[in-house]
Order: sequence, then C-alpha cells, then structure tokens
Amino acid sequence: MKITDVRACQPVTPKSPDDWRTTIGQILVAVDTDSGLTGYGVGGGGFAGIHVVRTVLRDLLIGKDPTDIATLWRAMYDDTLAFGQKGLVVMAISGIDLALWDLKGKAEGVPVYELLGGAKHRRMPTYITVWDNAALREVVDSGYRGFKLHMECLADLSVSVDDFAPVIVEQLQASREIVGPGRVLMADSWMKWDMDQTRAVISRLSTAGFELEWLEEPIPIDDEAGYAALVKESPYPIAGGEHEYTVAGFRHLVEKKLHSVLQPDVCWCGGLTELIRVYEMAAEHGVRVCPHRGSEIWSLHAMAALDPEPLAESGRHWMDWVGGQPPIVDGFIEIEERPGLGIVLDEGSLETMATPVYDDWRPA
Ligand SMILES: [Mg+2]
Repeated sequence: MKITDVRACQPVTPKSPDDWRTTIGQILVAVDTDSGLTGYGVGGGGFAGIHVVRTVLRDLLIGKDPTDIATLWRAMYDDTLAFGQKGLVVMAISGIDLALWDLKGKAEGVPVYELLGGAKHRRMPTYITVWDNAALREVVDSGYRGFKLHMECLADLSVSVDDFAPVIVEQLQASREIVGPGRVLMADSWMKWDMDQTRAVISRLSTAGFELEWLEEPIPIDDEAGYAALVKESPYPIAGGEHEYTVAGFRHLVEKKLHSVLQPDVCWCGGLTELIRVYEMAAEHGVRVCPHRGSEIWSLHAMAALDPEPLAESGRHWMDWVGGQPPIVDGFIEIEERPGLGIVLDEGSLETMATPVYDDWRPA
C-alpha cells in the first residue's frame, strides 16, 4: 500500500465558530492510498495548518508505505523541526498521524484499539465542561460522572486580588451546591489568572474545606516557576497540558513537576502516536492522564486500551460533522467496533470553508 495523496480542509457547520485559532481551527486530513482506502484524522491550525499539510507534509508522504507510522511521524517532525516542534505545525502533524492510524485499522479490518492491545474498557464514564452555572444546572442530572466549570469569562481579571478571589469562590460554591457533595467537580481558568489571584482562590477554597478534583491551567503555561510552586503548595491537583506538544513536552512537565494531571489533546499534541507515548511515560512516573476532549472519537481508542481509569471529557459541540462519533448516554460513552477509528464520513455532503489558496479538497 502506498500513499497517493494527502488532503486537508476546514469543515464547517452552523455551529462552527468563525475563527481558525487554537480550539476552533480543526482541520480534517485525508490520506488516500493506491489500495482505495482513505484514512481520516483531525488536526488543528485552520488555514495555516492546511498550508503546512499541503506545502511540506504531503510531498514527504506521497509514495510512502502508510503503515510504518512511527517512521513517518519522525520524518514529519524532523522535516519541520526548524519551524515546528510545538504549535500549529504539530497540530497539522496530529491530523495526518490520526489519519494514518485510521488507515492502518481499516487495512487490517480492526478497530484502532485492537492495534493498541485491545479495549480494557468498552463503556467509559464521562465528565462535562460547562461555561457557567446555568448550563451546569441543565446537565447536572444527565448521568455525568464529573463536571468542570470553565472560568475564563466568569470574573473581572482587572480588579484587585481581594475583589477577584471572592467572585471565583462564590461561583465555585454555587457549582458545588448544584452538583452536591462528593461528586467530581473541577475548575479551569484557561491560563487567565496570575499567581496572586491563583493563590488567593486556592487559599479561600482550602480554608473552606472545598472539594475540588483539580484546578486546570490556572496561570500562563510558560510560567514554569509558578507551576512548580503551585504543584508544591496547592492541596488541589494542578492539571494542564492541552497546550503542550509531543511526549518530549509532556516529559518536561512531569520531570519538572509542573502538573499533577496531564491533559494531552490528541488532535494537537502530535496525534495518537504521541498520545500513546504520553500514556506510557506517565505510567512510568505514576502520573494521571485525562485527555482533553477525551470523548471525541480521536482519543477514545487510546482511552479504551491504555487508560487505567478513564474519565472522558465531553466533546465540543461544533465537531458535529464527525460521523461515527459515539454518543454520550446517561453519562457513559461506549466505543464501537468499526475498523480504524470508526469514522463515517460522506465527503460529498461535507461543507468546507473555502481556503484562500487551495480549492482542491475533493480529488479530481
Ligand atoms: Mg482546559
């Protein structure tokens, strides 16, 4: 089997955000082969990610055997090293890597979890991320095993610490009242707080005996000294990693003790190849892995096969164009048995955003 083309586009639906950056620039990558099989993956970087696929990675892959994924991953990483390593180049590689895994499963006629040693879990508990307490109230009785309050927009960051911390604590106490005692509750500040704000929130919460499963990305991710201090002093686990790339980046987080819970995003961190390596590295160090958006089909096979105690985060609602995505029912998600990643796509019915340069998503 040989690769004959590598295509990329940005699918859109009425729910799609209209910006291409980070979380919302999901690109679909298709790897075509002379066997007639096509593998699909999702990466990131929007038009810029598509540009990387089209101008660098595609030429590297055409004519190659798609089943030797580790070698192809290394070639893609090495060829982009001067301008890659992290960020949107690795997001683009992630999409191709996932497509290669999908292809390998399809070629062997087995689901990807079988390629990873088999599913230890078929039906996995999930948690849901919400952006305010009104939304939390709507989903609290839907069976989810955990709830995360995304606090990015829930407080005015410009006020004094003494005015800031009570607002955050009040929001979280309201969340706790909604979900009740003993249930899993997390908070995510999406890198928006500073050290003083974070310490003030932690201090007020811990003084009140507040139960919190983890505090996610409280401060900017490049503040390593800050994270090292927080991991040491916080009674709550410090989670992060959705904005980290490759196992090398995650190994740094673990060895420097910057996070207690790792949250790789398989569509950004380098694909399934790197998510597998993160799981292996974290197991050696006894660190928990809880993939970002883990219930999306792209992470689910690794969670089923490699996660000792999976807790899959709800997916993003604008990814509704991904056919074959198993639904969350009563708070659980069940992996299905289709070959590859189990994606069901009708390219002809897919709406795609017109790219400024490339208009040849569909093969001639
Ligand atoms: Mg987050």
